[in-house]
Amino acid sequence: MAFSPFPRTVTKTLADLIEDVLPQTQCTKCGYPACRPYAEAIADGSAAINQCPPGGLEGVRRIAALTGRPVIAINPVNGYERPRPVAFIDEQLCIGCTLCIQACPVDAILGAAKQMHTILPSLCTGCDLCVAPCPVDCIVMYPVTGELSGWDAWPQREADAARARHDLRSERLRRERAENDARLAAKAVAKLREVTAETGNTPAELAEKERKRAIIAAAMERARLKAATPPADKD
Ligand code: SF4
Ligand code: SF4
Ligand code: SF4
Repeated sequence: MAFSPFPRTVTKTLADLIEDVLPQTQCTKCGYPACRPYAEAIADGSAAINQCPPGGLEGVRRIAALTGRPVIAINPVNGYERPRPVAFIDEQLCIGCTLCIQACPVDAILGAAKQMHTILPSLCTGCDLCVAPCPVDCIVMYPVTGELSGWDAWPQREADAARARHDLRSERLRRERAENDARLAAKAVAKLREVTAETGNTPAELAEKERKRAIIAAAMERARLKAATPPADKD
């Protein structure tokens, strides 16, 4: 390849450009599991441009500028543009079940099993996703931006930071899933060897051995199919 003194330019796809103008709260209000899948759906023409309440009308304008589609009001089915809220936990009521941590797409909650949980307000995107899973209703959303809503209430640097945290979390979850799958696969192989080595040659013993082998083989096949199925989110 010929030497070029200029750095190689990376061409962004339309989905990349749309993702760049989404607010990255990862709230799922658009009907997609995260901002990226919504960006892809707009780019391929299968989604309207008015499904992101956190971006509000300014968000619709930004997507319209990229896609050439007309500016339209936010679809109320997806929610309403509102001042940005932040989640707070009533720590006296928290039972430490960890369900909120599992629901938070940007790792804004600290805590461990059977311990009081707390939210880091500076990392909270106001996505609401931790509220419904809490079994004791101790999470409350408080508006923190006065009258400001949409992009007026959410600077680009916070959107960028939320996106980075979401991507890091997605990567960590992917790695944990892969490690867990590998552990289970190794266990299944060991069990299969154990069953194969079992002694006993009566018809009943052989039939029992075959039954166990079939169960393990079916479990391994299920695990293989699950590993081959792409997750719904980009995580
Ligand atoms: S901020 Fe929420 S509604 Fe907007 S694109 Fe991201 S996930 Fe969808
Ligand atoms: S703490 Fe709750 S509201 Fe805040 S980002 Fe996490 S899940 Fe969303
Ligand atoms: S879901 Fe509710 S009870 Fe469970 S850890 Fe979170 S705040 Fe505590």
